[in-house]
Amino acid sequence: MKAVVFEGVGLPGIHDRAVPSFEADEVLVEVAVTGICGTDRAIVLGEFPARPGVVLGHEAVGAVAAVGAGVGAVTPGDRVVINPTYHCDRCRPCRRGMPAHCGAKAGREIGVDRDGTMAGFAVVPEGFVHRLPDSVPYRRGALVEPLACVLNNLAAARPRRDDRVLVIGAGPVGALCALVLAGRGARVTLAERDPARVELARLLLPRTVRVLAAEEADGAFTPDLAIDTTGSLPGDVLGTVAAGGTVVVMGEKETGVATVPLRALTTRGIRLVGAGPYRPADFARAVALARDLPLDALVTHVLPLERYAEALALLAVAPAGPGRPETNGYRAMKVLLATDGSAAP
Ligand SMILES: [Zn+2]
Ligand SMILES: [Zn+2]
Repeated sequence: MKAVVFEGVGLPGIHDRAVPSFEADEVLVEVAVTGICGTDRAIVLGEFPARPGVVLGHEAVGAVAAVGAGVGAVTPGDRVVINPTYHCDRCRPCRRGMPAHCGAKAGREIGVDRDGTMAGFAVVPEGFVHRLPDSVPYRRGALVEPLACVLNNLAAARPRRDDRVLVIGAGPVGALCALVLAGRGARVTLAERDPARVELARLLLPRTVRVLAAEEADGAFTPDLAIDTTGSLPGDVLGTVAAGGTVVVMGEKETGVATVPLRALTTRGIRLVGAGPYRPADFARAVALARDLPLDALVTHVLPLERYAEALALLAVAPAGPGRPETNGYRAMKVLLATDGSAAP
């Protein structure tokens, strides 16, 4: 099978790999499509650590090809979505209800230090595949994983019904935040620095979401809840959020560093919240929500696996050059890689 392999910082390579073998409690999935995530981008750019030699990709859907002898939850032919966030259920964080922060993740994070889904097949432990409802096409199912992440962070934000919400960053995660909140009737403004993404967000999101260029959004209103999806907490977000407000930080960049005015937290009662990835219950909720939420509206490109470099270029990763790839402007919202070479249904 073909596989997109991380060889070290820089563009990954495409390699021929044997179809992986699997244990009694594991499932072999024939991958249909994998979404390219900000984390994949950060890995390639050297902003998120990954094991050289690993097959990239973790936001995937496909069909069960074979199952280990002890697997009962799925059978060959089932359409599934993969939950790539490993948890052991035994360590202290897991036992305290925080499986997203499991202490036993090393070597088990799909597409990071365990082989991922940008390949013909991927092996996943039984507990980490979910049946996809028949009504959810693959190109929508591929957004279930980032949706689960969004649901966990929105739960941690504890939004109130009358909150004015500012979402910073109109990448797929910011757009999903806006889509979910707008679906609940919230007043949402999405702010974005990249002009192409401002245009895409205006085109793809419901009209009830206000999309502004970052400089227009600056001081335009006082949000009660600000959600930073850029991983860099730009500007004076803590200073501009309303008293008693909440700032949620998402994003997985190692380079994301911010100076925080502590008085904003104490005198104005601002909550600064980090929630990280999702709990298994969020994943199940995301699968259910995918029946009704038009997540696939955010998919602007589906390319065959072999054209991964072109796909990364659409996401502001330069197609060539030694060392750290230069970045340029975004030209896409969500980009999917289709393993069978076609735009999978
Ligand atoms: Zn992801
Ligand atoms: Zn654990």
